[in-house]
Amino acid sequence: MHQQHKPSKIAVVGGGIAGLGFALALHQRGIACDVYEAVAEVRALGVGITLLPHAVRELAALGVQDQLEAVAIENLESVFFNRHGQFIYREPRGRHDGYAFPELGIHRGKLHRILFDEAVRRLGAAHIHTDHRCVAVEQDADGATVQFADSTGARRPPVKADVVIACDGVHSAIRRQFYPDEEMAFAGINTWRGVTRHRPILTGKSYLRVGSIDTGKMVIYPIVDNIDGQGLQLINWMAEIKRDTRTMNDWNQAGNVADFADIFHDWRFPWLDVPALIANAEQILEYPMVDKDPVPRWTFGRVTLMGDAAHPMYPRGSNGAAQGLIDARTLAEQLANQADPLAALKAYETLRLAPTARIVQTNRSVPPDFINIKVDHLSGGKPFRHIDDLISQAELRAISDNYKRIAGFSLDTLKAS
Ligand SMILES: Cc1cc2nc3c(=O)[nH]c(=O)nc-3n(C[C@H](O)[C@H](O)[C@H](O)COP(=O)(O)OP(=O)(O)OC[C@H]3O[C@@H](n4cnc5c(N)ncnc54)[C@H](O)[C@@H]3O)c2cc1C
Repeated sequence: MHQQHKPSKIAVVGGGIAGLGFALALHQRGIACDVYEAVAEVRALGVGITLLPHAVRELAALGVQDQLEAVAIENLESVFFNRHGQFIYREPRGRHDGYAFPELGIHRGKLHRILFDEAVRRLGAAHIHTDHRCVAVEQDADGATVQFADSTGARRPPVKADVVIACDGVHSAIRRQFYPDEEMAFAGINTWRGVTRHRPILTGKSYLRVGSIDTGKMVIYPIVDNIDGQGLQLINWMAEIKRDTRTMNDWNQAGNVADFADIFHDWRFPWLDVPALIANAEQILEYPMVDKDPVPRWTFGRVTLMGDAAHPMYPRGSNGAAQGLIDARTLAEQLANQADPLAALKAYETLRLAPTARIVQTNRSVPPDFINIKVDHLSGGKPFRHIDDLISQAELRAISDNYKRIAGFSLDTLKAS
């Protein structure tokens, strides 16, 4: 139910997936806001991203499902292999598993572009402020003041708002204000992400997890179909390895093949030549696999945290974007239904903090690729005769279903919502 009293001004800091999703969710409910994004020009950064059915449910509610589907690949199945290329487990995904929404592989830049263009179109360009890097937020009984700098470092005029929503990502400047001593949690896992033009692998709509993170793992899925008009796809891949190291990869920087290619040198399977996939990459970026320990609160008076600023998680369950979009819808609903915006910020935290903290923990301990880890342990990392000799398909399905339940996208949950 919409009430009479609306916050007169909402400042959204960060125009990424959560910030733009939030702006669109507010707009749908007749609530105005302004988005302040640090970068001067939105470019197609990053590589592939997987949108699970609960992410697509949120994006469908924002009215962009058709646009996304037009440029994405709908996953048919998720398949697990060991490092010897032996089949472990397969399950249908998204609509192929009875969900109302598809599971999509998409270029992250395209997803961002669609959200950004829709936000400009619906809210008006005057409400989307690029080249505004938030450097501080102050607040008192009358309101909040957000301080910004432009890309040269020069200060911009401060912005007054009733509430400030920090959607400024994993390196959030606003979160740092409330948790100044906090550090990224790094457990020795580094990753390299690449894209390679390649013929379709397996069904051409398969999401693959090969090997185990302890000894080297590849996640592989297509993000663009028929990229050359001759049937090649753009394949997104992520190489991951846990090593006894304190040296963290850089964030979103050009990666060096020599740092990881040796792990995969003999991964030549009848259905895929992994060294060739790596060698032919158009682009390789390196990232550390990091998150932050869940914090006890996100809401501090007029300010709250959202998306990766609130709950950065290992990108191991394809869940970051989904959770940011669920945050966005939840807070928009609270602001629409509560007269007091500060109470809405608190209510949002009550609804979202515990479930997302659980996902952060589960992404560390029993993520979907726990299937690969478990089989690696059972087989001692050696080739096996048949997977059924080690573990049943039903047990493997149970691991997968457990993650879906915790992350909020089990078939039952999505049917009920
Ligand atoms: C390697 C990798 C792979 C991933 N794969 C997946 C996946 O397959 N599926 C999935 O769902 N999720 C995935 N994620 C996670 C997903 O990308 C994030 O969870 C999601 O982007 C979070 O959205 P956000 O809006 O909170 O942050 P972001 O999308 O990072 O947006 C933050 C925005 O804030 C801006 N900003 C930063 N600082 C400031 C400031 N001081 N002032 C103003 N603006 C600022 C940034 O420029 C940016 O635009 C992955 C993440 C990584 C690192």
